[in-house]
Amino acid sequence: MKLQPGLVYGKQLKDLFDYAKEKGFAIPAVNVVGSNSINAAMETAAEMKSPIIIQFSNGGAYFNAGKGLDNTGQKAAVMGAVTGAIHIHKLADLYGIPVIIHTDHAAKKLLPWVDGMIEYGKKFMEKHGKPLFSSHMLDLSEEPLEENVEISKKYLKELSDMNMFLEIELGITGGEEDGVDNTDVDNKRLYTQPEEVAYAYEELLKISPYFTIAAAFGNVHGVYKPGNVVLRPEILKNSQEYIRRKFGLKEEKPVSFVFHGGSGSDLEDIRKAIDYGVVKMNIDTDTQYAFTAGVREYFRKYWDYLQSQIGNPEGDDLPNKKYYDPRKWLREGEKSFVKRLKRSFEDLRDVPEIHQITIEK
Ligand SMILES: [Zn+2]
Repeated sequence: MKLQPGLVYGKQLKDLFDYAKEKGFAIPAVNVVGSNSINAAMETAAEMKSPIIIQFSNGGAYFNAGKGLDNTGQKAAVMGAVTGAIHIHKLADLYGIPVIIHTDHAAKKLLPWVDGMIEYGKKFMEKHGKPLFSSHMLDLSEEPLEENVEISKKYLKELSDMNMFLEIELGITGGEEDGVDNTDVDNKRLYTQPEEVAYAYEELLKISPYFTIAAAFGNVHGVYKPGNVVLRPEILKNSQEYIRRKFGLKEEKPVSFVFHGGSGSDLEDIRKAIDYGVVKMNIDTDTQYAFTAGVREYFRKYWDYLQSQIGNPEGDDLPNKKYYDPRKWLREGEKSFVKRLKRSFEDLRDVPEIHQITIEK
């Protein structure tokens, strides 16, 4: 398959997801919060010569705009995601990377955030002839299934008309992320039923094939001591088989699944999930930790050079500017982020030897 540097969207994104299922790889979807993590993500994709998904959570988008801003009506979170996406559009060519720009969980109360991004995206489309984002996610898993799917259909219509994708959530990803706490949710809601996936699949397909499904199979946001919840990737396999039989389909994996809350999972479970149709896996907790660890090690190493502007262990009169310049330690965070993210590309088999994707203008 051939891809070009810049935004991947519409029919090409559909082809990429189908191709990923055929070849057995998934694309890392890394959460970013500002230019440091955005650039580190693009740097990784360039080094790996592979497509990447870069995504903003609602909190990450707000942070990118600046926590000092008032966020009434989600206006700061809208512009934080918009400016982040424009940053990526403008630099993807220089990095030489095909990139999918996405936004993460939007529960019912965050629909104004999505609406604001769509409104801006329409203006962008008029001017540039392509969408600003490749896709948005709605997470209405807290609502009854029928309502979840009904609202999702409405958004899928609007997005697919703009050549964009919609990601929906069925069942609940456990744990805690971005201020949403699902740590005490009833265990059985952490496992989606094949019937629920089939219902959503059938209804959404009436509108457009431009959708992906984040189905819960015991996945949990964040990293906790093992043992509490068990990952059951076979739920994805069972869902694919159920749908194939119910609708008499020939395709082996009709559904394109998304894997949330995969941090700390066994590689074996990750690979199984990919084999059962996961095309996108979210990466957040592990790269958050890696960024901080990179900064931590810098501070550990140069602690004595960071206590005052002048004077360090090599001399009382020596200036410390070259140690405390924030670029120094931020870069160490970026480097550590890149190193960890590379491992995710390998775990997900998003590497040229496997995906056989050539990137050219
Ligand atoms: Zn998630």
